[in-house]
Amino acid sequence: TTPLLEVKNLKKYFPIQKGFLRKHVGDVKAVENVSFNLNPGETLGLVGESGCGKSTTGRAILRLVEATAGEVRYNGIDVLNARQNELRRLRREMQIIFQDPYSSLNPRMTIGEAVGEALREHGLYKGKELKDRIIEVIEICGLADYHVNRYPHEFSGGQRQRIGIARALALNPSFIVADEPVSALDVSIQAQIINLMMDLQEKLKLSYLFISHDLSVVKHISDRVGVMYLGDIVELASKNDLYDNPLHPYTKALLSAIPVPDPKMKRNIIILKGDIPSPANPPSGCKFHTRCPIAQDICKEEAPEFKEYQKGHFAACHLIGK
Ligand code: SF4
Ligand code: MG
Repeated sequence: TTPLLEVKNLKKYFPIQKGFLRKHVGDVKAVENVSFNLNPGETLGLVGESGCGKSTTGRAILRLVEATAGEVRYNGIDVLNARQNELRRLRREMQIIFQDPYSSLNPRMTIGEAVGEALREHGLYKGKELKDRIIEVIEICGLADYHVNRYPHEFSGGQRQRIGIARALALNPSFIVADEPVSALDVSIQAQIINLMMDLQEKLKLSYLFISHDLSVVKHISDRVGVMYLGDIVELASKNDLYDNPLHPYTKALLSAIPVPDPKMKRNIIILKGDIPSPANPPSGCKFHTRCPIAQDICKEEAPEFKEYQKGHFAACHLIGK
């Protein structure tokens, strides 16, 4: 299959400016080197601790922030260089679901208005057709038609996320960035939203970039998973390969810390020393060397190459197979 989305060497630096003259004194290297493909109908999970660049990656792909460098192609179209008209068309195809559905909804807009906003902006429907489309979209997201005249504060967290999903789906997109879509929800509600997203994916042939710090959530929904650390993807593999046979020491540490259903089960939690270094001043060589339990001298000096070790299983570490 030809990929729906191709991301190559994506980079996003935020300049740090100081003082009255706003002198440029450095950069927060939020995303340094991110490359992956996404196939039609596929879900790629993107995991890592907060601040690793997952959200910035999603936003740069959608051009909600402008990338510093790199390439993004959607159905072959050069997204990062698309002009206004083309970008407008791309915006119909590529949508985002946010972590906190409440703050992304205008409290003074009814649900019908919120879901219809993009439809009106794009001039796609009018009058009765617009109303019908709004009701169609909120119904496929599991809400009843009479909800259209209600306001966001009248809904629970889970219902608001359904509304957030309905807004994203109104324009009938093919690709959705879901940025921690269930992290603000109770665990009991999380599964409902994940199941809804999986149903919608099948029904509407959607592709997801599913961003989360929670490896158990990502495991449920993803076909493939990428692990990010300090702005880089350090491992990328099919879900089964990544969870059953992790290659990178960081992935191994993250997986070792996932809570298990049976607390008596024997397991070795790998505790990482220290905090995540600042993305304004990342460590030399392998950026993970300050916390890696098996780091060697070479790790401080040379950045490991991101290589394919088994079919479709990529990682960046000097010591794999050594
Ligand atoms: Fe650890 Fe070295 Fe591998 Fe980096 S390259 S993950 S520091 S062993
Ligand atoms: Mg984030």
